[in-house]
Formats: sequence, structure tokens, C-alpha cells
Amino acid sequence: MTDTLTSEPTTDVRTLKLFVGGAWIDSTADQHLESRDPGSGELLARVPLGGAADVDAAVRAAREAQRAWRRTAPQVRARALYRLRDVLDRHRDELAALVVADMGKTFDDALAEVGRGIESVEAAMGGTHHLKGQNLEGIGTGVDVELHRQPVGVVAAITPFNFPVMIPLWFLPFALVTGNAFILKPSEQDPLASERIVELVGQVDEIPAGLVSLVHGAKDAVNAILDHPGIDAVSFVGSATTARYVATRATEQGKRVQALGGAKNAMIVMPDADPKLTASQIVGSAFGAAGQRCMAGSLAVLVGTQEEQDRSLQLIVDAASKLTSGPGSDRATDVCPVINAGSRERLVAEIDAAERDGIEVVVDGRTADAGAGGANLGATVLDGVPADHRVATEELFGPVLGVIRVATLDDAIEFANASRYGNSTILFSESGGAAREFRYSADAGMLGVNVGVAAPIAWMPFGGWNDSIDADLSANGEDGFRFYTRQKVVTTRWGGTSAAAAGGGMRF
Ligand code: NAD
Repeated sequence: MTDTLTSEPTTDVRTLKLFVGGAWIDSTADQHLESRDPGSGELLARVPLGGAADVDAAVRAAREAQRAWRRTAPQVRARALYRLRDVLDRHRDELAALVVADMGKTFDDALAEVGRGIESVEAAMGGTHHLKGQNLEGIGTGVDVELHRQPVGVVAAITPFNFPVMIPLWFLPFALVTGNAFILKPSEQDPLASERIVELVGQVDEIPAGLVSLVHGAKDAVNAILDHPGIDAVSFVGSATTARYVATRATEQGKRVQALGGAKNAMIVMPDADPKLTASQIVGSAFGAAGQRCMAGSLAVLVGTQEEQDRSLQLIVDAASKLTSGPGSDRATDVCPVINAGSRERLVAEIDAAERDGIEVVVDGRTADAGAGGANLGATVLDGVPADHRVATEELFGPVLGVIRVATLDDAIEFANASRYGNSTILFSESGGAAREFRYSADAGMLGVNVGVAAPIAWMPFGGWNDSIDADLSANGEDGFRFYTRQKVVTTRWGGTSAAAAGGGMRF
């Protein structure tokens, strides 16, 4: 079953509303997307595909609310995040259940995502410290210079389907603590968890009405955000093509923008790697969330002689063959469905084409039952992938692991560095020397050594290199505070004309 477009209600399923000015209001959209549970196929909601009018309503409310919020003391803004953190903490299970139903991942994985999202709130709670400026006194007679950080104004986030809780929370708390108003446009494919987050924000009395808004939609809503003169900065996460589009259009409109894009992450396996750890980390990375993570390792680069490579491959094949595919709601499921039946069809076509090109399907996920939602695909391992084949170069975003064979660590790093992406690269080895060389030479923003999904915690920046990002500043960490603030440098003279006349030092 694929999410379908409708203009008229076909059932009594709920149509989502917008959150604007602290109230839930109807969208002006005349088209809707039917959002379904990828596991069961159940129709969950009609998602309005809004545009300029919806975005404009949110911007008006946001601008009004931000005027007072930017004058609210930074420590009071931070305190609002303490409350938000507590509210989210009390709703972990509920948020995770919404992710399972709407996006399809397993409950444990969804719970881990919610935990990561809450960590971003915790990291942003320290905003008061990060907002402190700098000063240098006595640069001239009675003259001092000081740097202040101020909010950029109204900011928007456009988020992808694969982390409907965590990724909105990469941005919302950092934007608020730095004094901005925040507008969220979640993925139209699974907006229910984002809707609940915004509802929970509404329960925090310290966050004034209008400061956080929710709009729904797809390309038209995104264009309306990019073009609206009342939006000062845009955070985007999604595929590389959309990231480039968003970054270009937002920049043309004079906005500050950070656009995080897609990935093709290589996992390098040295012959000395710990076999058990490596196999479990590789299958967790490649097949967890059905490979729909920007940090998913989608290539295993096996280093060594043919015999050593075969031994590494066998470990991966054994582990992958044991995985069960099924709905995320089933506790026994290892590999959850992909986002919809259309995505499954696309992935099956990719595997078919690879097979026609002579690539060997050593674990075949096409044989798995597609399930009630038509979106299940089992773990798939493709051996003998040429370095220039689509499987080696393009992000497939599904439970498909390509295997590349090389002789040395240098060859492996050279292969990984040739990618147009640069989100993450992983090394499995017990050698400190290999790990050091890898750390020094691998061209990616987030590296892992013996860690299959090297997603940094929220106190560190999250962002890749090359086509995995169109931005100077990443999400989270110090970058999160920097992106949402502008610096102002003030030079002052105090002490009257007598101090200036007294001279000494540099004259202004
Ligand atoms: P997507 O690019 O299809 O959609 C992302 C957002 O852009 C959605 O809100 C969507 O409504 C909007 N959008 C989609 N097409 C558009 C268009 N043509 N014009 C304007 N807006 C458009 O991405 P997705 O499929 O939802 O998410 C998966 C992608 O996100 C993968 O490529 C994955 O690697 C990437 N991702 C990257 C990171 C990272 O940190 N770099 C994190 C998570 C996901």
C-alpha cells in the first residue's frame, strides 16, 4: 500500500490540524496525503498539503510571540526547556508508540530515538552558558569592545520521515533557548509524533502561545517557508537532492540555512576485527530501521586476502540470515518495514538490477513476506559490487548491504573517500595503528571505530561533509547555538572627553 493523495475525505479518519498562535486550526489545503501504518497498512490520518497561506499564518503568530521572548531572560528561557524535558520524559513510551505506528520502526529503536531527542533538549538546556559573549577592555582611551549573541528571529525546520521525534528535537530546543520562535514542517509521510511533540510543548506554561508552530505539507509548504520574508533561518534534514535545492533557494532569499543531506556510509572490516562484535554491529547498522538511517552503514568494505574477505563475509551472512523481518509492533521483529510499499518496490527493482549486472545476492530479502502494509523487505546482502556501481555509490535507503572487496586499509579508505557523500565511515579493527590512520585519513564528518552507528550525542555537532551537508554549521552541540544566533560587536567609549584627551594607547 502506498500513501495516496486525496482531495476529498474517503473515511472518517482524522484530518491533521495546524498549531498556530497556541491553537489548533484547520489548514487551507485542498489536497491531503493519506498516511498509513507501514506494518499493518492501517489508515492513520489525512495530512493536509498546505502552502503559503498556512505558513503565513504561522509566521505572523511567530513574529508576534518572538518579540517578547527575545526579551525574556536567557536563564528563564532555559528553565522552560527543563519543563519541556520533564514533559517529554513522561511521554517516552507514547511518543515511541507513535513512531512505531506511523514510521514503522521497532519499539526499542523508537524508544532509543525518543531518548536521543530528549538528549538534544538536555544539551540545549545549557544555552545560558553558550549565549555569553566576549569583551576586551581598554583598546583605546576609555574604549572597550564587546561581542553579544542575539537570536536570528523566526526560524523553521523541515524534517525527514526517518526520525520523526529526534530530528525536530535537534532544532526546537536550541532555537527556543537562544530566543527565537520556531516553525516545524515535519515529513508529510509520518507527522503524528511531531504533532504530539508540539502538543506537549503547548503544555509547558513557560513557552508562550505562538512561539512554536506546526504546519503540514510537502513541496508547496517547503517553498512557502523558503520564500517567506518573515522567516530568518531554515534548518533542513532530508535527501541530498532536496538539501541542495533548499540550501540554494533559501540562500537566494537571503536566509541563513543549514541543510543536512543523504549518505553512503562505508564500514571497513580489517582481518583482525573482533568477529562477534563486528558482525552484530554491521547488521545492526545496515538493517536496523530497515537501513533507513542517514548513519546506516550500507557498504561493507572487506580488507585482506580472498580468504580473509570470505571469512568476514561469512560472519555477516550468518548474522543477517538470522534476522526476522516483520512489523515494528512485533517484539520479535529485527528488520522493520520500509516507509511504504512504493519504497519496497523501488528497492526490489534496485536488487533486481544489481543481480542482472552480475552482482551476487548472497542474502535475499525479496523472499520475505511483504506484510499487510506491503512494505516489508528482508535483510539483503550483495557481494562483488563494483566500486562504480549504483549499489556502491547511491544511497538506496533500505535494508540492502553492498560488499566491496579490497586488499589494504589504504585501498579501503581511498574507496570510502571517493564517495560524493561524507556523513560517516566506520572501521572495525583491533589495531590501534589502523584506527589512528583511519581517524586521520577518512573524509567524513562522523567516524566510528568498532561502533556501527557512530551518531554523536547531542553535546557534539551532528553533521557530515561534502554532499551530506549544505551548511557551515551542523546540528546540535556548539553549532546549534551558533546557527540560531547572530553576533553583534559593540565598541564603546566612556569616561568623558577628559579621558580621551588624556591620551595613551590607541586613539579612536
Ligand atoms: P526527503 O528529502 O524526501 O524529505 C525531507 C523533507 O523535504 C520533507 O519534509 C519533505 O516534505 C521535503 N521535500 C521532499 N521533497 C521535496 C521537494 N522536491 N521540494 C521541497 N521539499 C521537499 O527525505 P526523506 O525521504 O524524508 O528522508 C530520508 C533522507 O534524509 C535520506 O536521504 C537520509 O539520508 C536523509 N537524512 C539525513 C540526515 C543527516 O543528518 N544528514 C538525517 C536523517 C535523514
